[in-house]
Amino acid sequence: MGYQKKEKIKNKNKIFKYISLNKIFNKQDISENLNLSFPTVTKYIEEFLEQNIIEEIGIKNSKHNRPSITYKFNPNSLYSIGIKLEVNRVSFIIINILGETLRKNEIHNNFYNNPNFAKYIVQQLKIFLQGFEEQDKLIGIGISLPGIVDDTFKKFEIGTNFQIFSQDMKFIEEEMKLPIFLMNEANAAIFGEYILNNFTYKNLAFISIDTGIGAGIVLNNKIYEGDNFKAGEIGHISIVPDGGRECTCGNSGCFERYCSNTALINDFKENFDLEIHTLNDIFFNNLHTTPIGEEILKKYTKYLAQAIQTFLLIFDLNKVIIGGEICFYKDYFNLEENLKNLVFNNLFCKDKNILEFSKYGESSNLIGAGLAPFRNWS
Ligand SMILES: [Zn+2]
Repeated sequence: MGYQKKEKIKNKNKIFKYISLNKIFNKQDISENLNLSFPTVTKYIEEFLEQNIIEEIGIKNSKHNRPSITYKFNPNSLYSIGIKLEVNRVSFIIINILGETLRKNEIHNNFYNNPNFAKYIVQQLKIFLQGFEEQDKLIGIGISLPGIVDDTFKKFEIGTNFQIFSQDMKFIEEEMKLPIFLMNEANAAIFGEYILNNFTYKNLAFISIDTGIGAGIVLNNKIYEGDNFKAGEIGHISIVPDGGRECTCGNSGCFERYCSNTALINDFKENFDLEIHTLNDIFFNNLHTTPIGEEILKKYTKYLAQAIQTFLLIFDLNKVIIGGEICFYKDYFNLEENLKNLVFNNLFCKDKNILEFSKYGESSNLIGAGLAPFRNWS
């Protein structure tokens, strides 16, 4: 991307952020507060007016006693769809331009290697949209995928946990008549967190603990994807040498074989003669308070800390957010405090505030994917 184009997107995003936070404004406010020229502001205001993102609400005399048009930000002028694909679950969401949820649903099903997957998605999406009166305001679909995503070619390349389809996404795009934006789930999550929290950190990451583990990394305000879209595959950092658990990636001792939800559930399954399928089954049955349960969670915390510390030592970040279903259960076993004590125990990692658990639990990637059609300005 050329420098001018980058500056253009940057300015448009700056103005968008300003108007979304201030709600009511005029051109002078924007120009003065953001230090942008009046013609630049006018240009984007016209674009936003055209898209109905803002509307005129009257004329007032400004500070300099000149009449100026007052505008109102209209977050419900446009909507988008977010889809999160997982091995055994599909989640749908409709959000407005601020990421606020209008409608949400999820379907549990075993999709593994289903050749009719795209058809199934279209079918379910049409059901999900039934009765939604404002479909003409939908501008696109963002899809969060647990694997390596190449958005240029609209395809899902490799995923060690999720090999349902590698065929073109064109089918869904054509059937729904909406453009599709693909995102790796951890990137979608960091994007969602960044916008929902109005973060201003330059360097941050999101560690997604799900059926697998991955990280979305933002360096210098830009999502870092790596040379082959493989950055952040931290679930496959080997943390147990010699005799570690075998992994689908070909290596053994991988981080996600010890700390993914699947791994944690399996550890409990092996030790308790009970039906355990979800994290809720563990905590609802108070298995975490048993001596074996405590031992399992102690090891879990230790491995989690080991990987996060390695990650922090490489990147020196302002903020690391942990997301996923485990966020809902962290207080059951004092995860936050124990984890921080283990991670921040050395000369280089000292500031415990760097580490945070997501307020959005496992929704930040779904919302982040939904935000992609709005923020892909070029
Ligand atoms: Zn692995």
